[in-house]
Amino acid sequence: MTTPTRPNRPRRTATVTHVRRLTDELVRISFHCPDLIGADLPHTDHYVKFIFGGEDQPRPVTRTYTFRRINTRTGLFDVDFVTHGSAGLAGPWAQRAKTGDILTFQGPGGAWRPAEDYGHFVFVGDESAAPAIAAGVEKLPAGATADVYVEIADAGSTFEMPEPEGVRLHWVPRNGATHGTKLSAAVRSAGIPHQRTSWFVHGVAEMLKELRRFLFLDSGVPREDVSISGYWRIGMTEDQWQESKREFNAELEAAEAG
Ligand SMILES: Cc1cc2nc3c(=O)[nH]c(=O)nc-3n(C[C@H](O)[C@H](O)[C@H](O)COP(=O)(O)OP(=O)(O)OC[C@H]3O[C@@H](n4cnc5c(N)ncnc54)[C@H](O)[C@@H]3O)c2cc1C
Repeated sequence: MTTPTRPNRPRRTATVTHVRRLTDELVRISFHCPDLIGADLPHTDHYVKFIFGGEDQPRPVTRTYTFRRINTRTGLFDVDFVTHGSAGLAGPWAQRAKTGDILTFQGPGGAWRPAEDYGHFVFVGDESAAPAIAAGVEKLPAGATADVYVEIADAGSTFEMPEPEGVRLHWVPRNGATHGTKLSAAVRSAGIPHQRTSWFVHGVAEMLKELRRFLFLDSGVPREDVSISGYWRIGMTEDQWQESKREFNAELEAAEAG
């Protein structure tokens, strides 16, 4: 089984123009795609589904990645790939990528951007969500403040993140702990801000249970204030995660309702 992407979505090709290693496990790849010139991309979590097999099938094997930045005048965009060792398709591809390589993709999609009616934002994620977080921080409403929690391998694995005035960046080193555990503990211990807050919480699925409990059950944060989802799951390929996601979320919602 493959990721259930809609058949007949337009497919585009992008050519690698530049490769830059940000940390041992994070590589920034710049692409050029003339089809994106003039595109209307108002969100800060725009993502594409790169095709890694079954190009001729209605449902090819895809991997989802965020535009860290996109220039719709030139069609140039950057994607930050977590390389995470030798497992998988996209991570190993990114590790070997070089100028001139070509990928096909579907999309972009996207749904979220910082809304004008909030004065404070909390962003939470691991490295896979850092591009969407960084893009969101760059589009905060004038005068808004934010706390940004980014989980990284260890204190030596930081990378460039925007820190405009009013934004507090909190690096959360895993130091060998399971992905997401240190991150959810850091967010819980910081507590709920006093002012009305918009939450953007994405990354490893394993943190969702704890953070949904913290936000919705223990703190009564209104659901409309929160954008929360799992971008990947430990021990699962993206295909397996996408297939089990609905059930995983339903179980969390049932536990919260009970
Ligand atoms: C909307 C959205 C936006 C995303 N944006 C980004 C992005 O900008 N950058 C990014 O790096 N990822 C992003 N992701 C996550 C990315 O799609 C997954 O990490 C994907 O599984 C990577 O594919 P793969 O072929 O490398 O590994 P897969 O074949 O899917 O998985 C192989 C193995 O690697 C493990 N694995 C997968 N991802 C990670 C990871 N990040 N760290 C450690 N182990 C991992 C899996 O658990 C599995 O055991 C996004 C996901 C979504 C849904």
